[in-house]
Amino acid sequence: TYALELTNLKKVYGTGVKALRGIDLTVEEGDFYALLGPNGAGKSTTIGIITSLVNKTSGKVKVFDYDLDTDLVRAKQQIGLVPQEFNFNPFETVQQIVVNQAGYYGVPRKEALKRSETYLKQSGLWEKRHERARMLSGGMKRRLMIARALMHEPRLLILDEPTAGVDIELRREMWVYLRELNEQGTTIILTTHYLEEAEMLCRNIGIIQSGELIENTSMKALLAKL
Ligand code: ADP
Ligand code: ADP
Repeated sequence: TYALELTNLKKVYGTGVKALRGIDLTVEEGDFYALLGPNGAGKSTTIGIITSLVNKTSGKVKVFDYDLDTDLVRAKQQIGLVPQEFNFNPFETVQQIVVNQAGYYGVPRKEALKRSETYLKQSGLWEKRHERARMLSGGMKRRLMIARALMHEPRLLILDEPTAGVDIELRREMWVYLRELNEQGTTIILTTHYLEEAEMLCRNIGIIQSGELIENTSMKALLAKL
């Protein structure tokens, strides 16, 4: 069983742009995987398709063996997404945001409250649980996005450019947190255009360029080649 299996994945947007030209990719359970590539390479499109926010043109997507075409609900249950932009309601409290998210995934309220303590403590936000999200610092907002994505206890956490526009100190703080999550057993896939970030964190790496996967290897093997 792979955490993720993409087979000949293609995307042509309505505008005619060929964003993905046949991506074949597997990510092992427990892996920390980076999808690296320049702007416009197709990273967000790939993430969008895996999380069923974007329709694929053709090809196959399996998440822990659940096929997106035939087992969409179960496939979605396996995935926690941390989008690039803050997309929570800034007027809700930290705890409301994470508890409501669990609700969308069918977690009973009592259990959601219990989990909110676990994940808010783990991300250092428990003391802020009654604050409105808009009052948080940038770094705390990022951690809130991660805590929210963990509330339905996904086996695969996907982060789209988690540290874009983040200063170096905060970036390091996030790296430590992500590494801890991976060590606890969560498979992580992140997109980035910083090789340094992939190097710091990831065991395996795929390099995408103009909609094609031009490299898919271990971080070690890639660094040996450079
Ligand atoms: P789909 O074929 O998946 O429905 P579309 O090509 O119809 O996608 O585009 C979806 C939306 O994204 C449209 O509103 C379009 O204007 C917008 N869009 C077009 N080009 C881009 C781009 N390069 N980046 C982001 N959004 C875009
Ligand atoms: P990345 O995340 O690596 O920057 P994207 O997946 O956003 O790359 O974009 C891949 C290609 O698809 C680019 O040429 C981009 O302009 C185009 N694209 C992305 N979103 C849309 C959209 N909604 N409609 C049309 N074209 C899009």
